[in-house]
Amino acid sequence: MILTPHILVGAAIAAKTANPYLGILFAFLSHYLLDAIPHADYPIEDLSEEKVNLKAVKEFLFAITDVTIGLVMVYILASSHPLLVWMLLTGFIAAVPDAIGVVGGYIIPRPLLKVINLGHKLHFDNKTKKAPLVIGVGSQLAVSILAITAILT
Ligand SMILES: [Zn+2]
Repeated sequence: MILTPHILVGAAIAAKTANPYLGILFAFLSHYLLDAIPHADYPIEDLSEEKVNLKAVKEFLFAITDVTIGLVMVYILASSHPLLVWMLLTGFIAAVPDAIGVVGGYIIPRPLLKVINLGHKLHFDNKTKKAPLVIGVGSQLAVSILAITAILT
């Protein structure tokens, strides 16, 4: 999934989990579960192959924008919530597996990266199973709406 729904779900988990440390763990694990749902992703091919070119820079900026949108949404939705700081943290943690999986390739040795990336074995196979756009976008919208509802209630 793109990063905004991951971040919203991470924040919702903090809002609904009594123990913030468990919230961090659940937020991290939620990433892999959400990625198992059929969804569409924007391309990050050059970035995930650790290329150093303009396309990789564009893909990186796209991902940074995505993270920023997610975190700003959490900030706006939960600005008066007593757990706001935790929600921003767990939101960020929920996006971390992709950050490690993608940008980590530039700095983390491949074998170690493979171990960290094990959870992504659950990932919906966008290459062979390509979800129709309605489902690919709809699943992420549905997840985001559920997460926003959980944050607000
Ligand atoms: Zn992912």
